[in-house]
Amino acid sequence: MFVQRCGVSVAITLLFAWMITTSSANASSSNDHPFHSSPEAAVREKKIKPSVTIQPAADSRQNSYPIILVHGLGGFDQLYSLKYWGGLNDIKQDLTKRGYDVYVADIGTVSSNWDRAVELYAQIKGGRVDYGKVHAETHGHARYGRTYSGLYPEWGEVDEETGKVKKVHLIGHSMGGQTIRVLTQLLQNGDKNESASTDSETLSPLFNGEKKPWVASVMTISTPHDGSTLTYHVQDVFPKIQQLIAAFAAVAGNREIMDYDFKLDQWGLKRLPGESFDAYMKRVCESKIWEKNKDTSEWDLSLPGAMELNRWVQAQPDVFYFSVSNEQTYRSILTGHELPEPLMNPAFYSFSIYMGRHTRKTDDFVVDRRWFKNDGMVNTRSMDGPSLGSTDLIVFYEGQPERGKWNHLGMMRSYDHLDVIGWGVRDLRPWYRELAALLASLPE
Ligand SMILES: [Zn+2]
Repeated sequence: MFVQRCGVSVAITLLFAWMITTSSANASSSNDHPFHSSPEAAVREKKIKPSVTIQPAADSRQNSYPIILVHGLGGFDQLYSLKYWGGLNDIKQDLTKRGYDVYVADIGTVSSNWDRAVELYAQIKGGRVDYGKVHAETHGHARYGRTYSGLYPEWGEVDEETGKVKKVHLIGHSMGGQTIRVLTQLLQNGDKNESASTDSETLSPLFNGEKKPWVASVMTISTPHDGSTLTYHVQDVFPKIQQLIAAFAAVAGNREIMDYDFKLDQWGLKRLPGESFDAYMKRVCESKIWEKNKDTSEWDLSLPGAMELNRWVQAQPDVFYFSVSNEQTYRSILTGHELPEPLMNPAFYSFSIYMGRHTRKTDDFVVDRRWFKNDGMVNTRSMDGPSLGSTDLIVFYEGQPERGKWNHLGMMRSYDHLDVIGWGVRDLRPWYRELAALLASLPE
């Protein structure tokens, strides 16, 4: 079965591994590099340029819709000096300086895509999170969550000057890509179960089925559209996390991780006043929510979970969908397995090796060598768009984007799962400028 005790802690482990190494770098001399034992390796890695060059769809700016950046599993906006989007650099700030309107979402870090999409809706538009009466009853959590003032409250309103709807561009990294697909699906189609069983006075507008063409584009980066085989490999992670946290605390001058928030209020898992991070993490890990429950990130990231999601979340005909895939493995001549490249962050090695050789056969799908290539957390095969259980079409982008289809922008070679959001030695701000330029060049 997919349910393993606190499997989701893998992602958190990695995040802390990064925080430790990055904080070490900050604390030590500038010759050391956070991600590699030798400065030479860092220099070598720095030379690897993005292999995906992005051609805008037009020579000039065609729209000025804001861009919303949506993090993946375990993610956040900012933690100490680290930005989720950019690492030690700040992608949002860089794009803002160049005239783009950019917002960073900060939603449930280990919650299901349904919960995260609903939170994202409230966070952008403003208001109280309403997970849905039926959904809440089915999964046994609270119906309402936090209240947000709104990153872009005028979202969906008609611009008086142009008479056009104020839309947004959504960019999602990793699981964030699934989340923004779910949000787009709900905006356009609502949810029949919710609308049938909720009185109209309390029904969230997100579920009412009144078509809301509020999303101009969906862009996914390293997204496990068909799930990740890493979800089959989760054992005894918890002791490792505690070690990592102890190491992190030491690096950070024994500073408690005060800010980290799983945002699991709907499950009654709020961090208590004065609760140590260790105790909080343990409480989350040992919670019943991971037992035979499909309303978690763990289910959504598994192959059967992703497949189930792909059956109801479909590419909407008036929205542009883009995807970027990435990898940092090479094929072993001896075994045919994929192995991590030496420059992959060591925190990913064991995961990468596992995915690089994992096969499986079920009634619904076969995992074979096509699944071996990976970025340390997600199988590359999963990233160009949904295929398991999906009817969506994937085409290769060559300067002419098509609505209602996945326009695959290409593969970032020698980029691991967090390199693509700028957590490696390479500065990805120029590459994100290209992405922003592409989005701004799309017709309204
Ligand atoms: Zn839920």
